Amino acid sequence: MPVSRDKEVVRKYNARRYKERKANGTVIPSKSHLKKSEQLGMPWGTAAHRLRKKVLFMLVCEAGRNICFHCGGEIENESDLSIEHKQSWLGIDVDLFWDMENIDFSHLRCNSSRSPNP
Ligand SMILES: [Zn+2]
Repeated sequence: MPVSRDKEVVRKYNARRYKERKANGTVIPSKSHLKKSEQLGMPWGTAAHRLRKKVLFMLVCEAGRNICFHCGGEIENESDLSIEHKQSWLGIDVDLFWDMENIDFSHLRCNSSRSPNP
């Protein structure tokens, strides 16, 4: 199948951006990301992260799981929500990181990874 002219232009653009990043070690935001960032008034990555966290908090509340794994208190807003690994994975087993059975939620301040004595 022949490559369309548009696809070839995009391929060349991406190849040029990759060479630039490789040369100076910086990430160059795409035109699309720059346009979104300008309208949102913040970097696109920050906005996307905030949106994902808002959606996660909404779904956690709908599932009735906005109860802190550690203290049992209600998690009242997305800024205080954190994903909790019930069993520590670090230095133990990377599968525990991805295991949904090992996931719960906690207040950010109660999260065991932030505690000095997890
Ligand atoms: Zn808590």
